[in-house]
Amino acid sequence: MKPLCIALLSGTLALAQPPKLKVHISVDMEGVAGAVTGDQLMPGGFEYPRFREFMTREAVAAVNAAKAAGATEILVADSHGNGENLLIEMFPADVRIIRSWPRRQGMMAGVDASFDAAIFIGYHASTNNPQGVRAHTFSSARLTRVALNGTVITEGAINAAVAGHFGVPVIMMSGDDAAIAEVRSVVGPIEAAETKRNLGFHSANTLTPSASQELIGQKVRAALSRRKDFKPFLFKPPVTVDVSFKSYLPAEVLAYLSIIQRPDSHSIRFTGKDILEVSDFLQFLTHYSLALEP
Ligand SMILES: [Zn+2]
Repeated sequence: MKPLCIALLSGTLALAQPPKLKVHISVDMEGVAGAVTGDQLMPGGFEYPRFREFMTREAVAAVNAAKAAGATEILVADSHGNGENLLIEMFPADVRIIRSWPRRQGMMAGVDASFDAAIFIGYHASTNNPQGVRAHTFSSARLTRVALNGTVITEGAINAAVAGHFGVPVIMMSGDDAAIAEVRSVVGPIEAAETKRNLGFHSANTLTPSASQELIGQKVRAALSRRKDFKPFLFKPPVTVDVSFKSYLPAEVLAYLSIIQRPDSHSIRFTGKDILEVSDFLQFLTHYSLALEP
């Protein structure tokens, strides 16, 4: 066969393939419909086994909607608690799932420049938001403030910046009303599925699981159908992160390092050359302990 014919043939074959559309889905649990307290959110809670299934069903709703909208490859990151919440047998066989910690890029593990879109499911507001069910940033037990370049920030915005570093836009999120408003205030008007309205830290007016799953499906399809409207979210480098602790000693000991400043008794500051370096620093901060084993 002459080269021209091969080129024509391969051109025909290329046309027959659906265009590549790779989607990263990061899944947390506090923003899942019905979740309001540790009873649903932690192993040992009397409703946890049911709520890990609801969390899974919301993630699967996003997966199925993404596939219906043309996604050819989907990576799901289990990003709550121990990272072992999602019932992996409930996902379609062509989905891959990231589990457990520690891992680089945290809730955005696996994202890179080959992805076309990012989606957040089950997200919650930041620890500095006076509203929002279970509002916290990385650790409700240990951290009282996280700010990037001087602005208090929510996990969703930090994760959007990690995706943005690779040129990947966040196009849709689900969670309570406070979580959605907080991410949109930084990232812009992404599509969103409001799973519940917060009435306080431990109370919400919620959709049922099936209604929430249906809404998530609708919003994922809507987002992917106009994904060219969404731009990657970027933090201008260098990126300075301020972290305040509930306790005194983490700030004291971290400040032994020359790369760490200590603006006040309970706070430290680190400047990274970009958001990935800050992300690595935050992973270290939230996972390092001399008692790490093996
Ligand atoms: Zn969580």
